[in-house]
Amino acid sequence: MAGEPQDDCLFCKIVAGQIPATIVRETETTVAFRDINPQAPTHVLVIPKAHYQDAAALAAGAPELAADVLRETRAVADQEKLDSYRTIFNTGTGAGQTVWHTHAHVLGGRGLEWPPG
Ligand code: 5GP
Ligand code: ZN
Repeated sequence: MAGEPQDDCLFCKIVAGQIPATIVRETETTVAFRDINPQAPTHVLVIPKAHYQDAAALAAGAPELAADVLRETRAVADQEKLDSYRTIFNTGTGAGQTVWHTHAHVLGGRGLEWPPG
């Protein structure tokens, strides 16, 4: 069920402390941790603690939690002292989504071309 922890979900396991991660921020509803394969000097993932498979499901099922995630992207950028940064939600296989627990990528610390590749 949306919002409930999933046994086979990597990011639910990070929330539960069953898989280690370099956590940079945590709130009552969210966790932010460094991406294991960083694509920029700062590459942090912000996730809701509750399981929603993608950003669309999160926005539809728990809009206040979606707002918490967005607020935390700003907080991560501030903590990392980033003036400019990019927030990305990959949604669907064709867009590169590989983990089915919604996560905002926060990327910064280098020039970021637009449009992205
Ligand atoms: P996606 O491709 O779904 O948008 O992003 C998934 C991200 O999760 C990737 O950038 C990938 O490097 C990261 N990732 C995958 N497995 C782990 C892990 O075990 N720990 C951490 N910290 N990041 C992971
Ligand atoms: Zn999950």
